Amino acid sequence: DYALYYAKANSRGDAVLFTEEHERLLRTQSVIEQALRHADLAREMCLVYQPIVDVRRGRTVAFEALARWTSPDLGPVSPAVFVPIAERSGLITRITAVLLGQALAAARAWPDEVALSFNLSMADIASPQAAEGIVAAIRASGLKPGRVILEATETALIQDIAKAQAVLETLKSNGIAIALDDFGTGYSSLGYVHRLPLDKLKIDRSFISEITADPASRDIVTSIVALARNLKLDCVVEGIETDEQARLLESLGCVLMQGYHFHRPMGFSDTLHYLDREAVRAIPPVRAIA
Ligand code: C2E
Ligand code: MG
Ligand code: MG
Ligand code: MG
Repeated sequence: DYALYYAKANSRGDAVLFTEEHERLLRTQSVIEQALRHADLAREMCLVYQPIVDVRRGRTVAFEALARWTSPDLGPVSPAVFVPIAERSGLITRITAVLLGQALAAARAWPDEVALSFNLSMADIASPQAAEGIVAAIRASGLKPGRVILEATETALIQDIAKAQAVLETLKSNGIAIALDDFGTGYSSLGYVHRLPLDKLKIDRSFISEITADPASRDIVTSIVALARNLKLDCVVEGIETDEQARLLESLGCVLMQGYHFHRPMGFSDTLHYLDREAVRAIPPVRAIA
């Protein structure tokens, strides 16, 4: 089935291994890229929102906006698939602009205590001008910049630390918070993390799926919690799926949590119902008059 053949393809003239699988993948990627290039972004892209919960207070402190794309030709395509393709083909900044507009409008409907956490790609913060564009969009929306958290992954930031520092400073000086997403999955995490003006570390969910069975994952989470505390950063844990995981993480000192155990990502109108229900739960019961 795997008809293997060699081709002298790369610039050094080395033999490159091709498989039908690889070819199929490349075809799929170019199909997705074409569909993205011709997409009516404002109609085809939308966001779902997943709560980030303070488990001590039992309150939602933020929603993370997560992109959803339904192509008329391809159907739903996961962001794990289309975001990397959009990044490679230079389409991501247009997508970010559309999604950020939608997210800021959504966040204006939430109470002041509820923040918006929004994912950025490398290209979105590749230059101070790009960062200025993001700041301008936030200012234009009327949402307080202090209610916006921008999430970036370490791979997006460590390529050029000096530039990342400058860009993040621009965002921070405007009151916007910065979270380092998928923490622990990139390289040399410890070497640079104290050099970036961060507010939050988000522990990657790959550590969480193992945490109740694997002592090593538990040790890693414990170390990241201690690191965050020493650097005076908030620590957010993502990908919590079970009560057992949530309790264990709480015993390790984690307070801010996100995952299917709390809530799956939901559409905008559901966020309003969700917040209403939460507000009702938080009101202390009225004592009956005897
Ligand atoms: P991320 O920012 O780390 O987002 C967390 C992902 O984990 C989301 O997947 C979310 O739906 C999923 N998730 C949340 N809780 C659980 C859980 O308990 N169990 C499991 N198994 N998964 C959980 P999603 O929405 O498919 O997004 C995948 C990635 O795509 C994101 O990872 C982010 O890197 C990227 N992405 C999503 N939306 C955007 C966007 O608007 N802009 C950019 N640049 N990237 C985005
Ligand atoms: Mg994220
Ligand atoms: Mg993440
Ligand atoms: Mg992740």
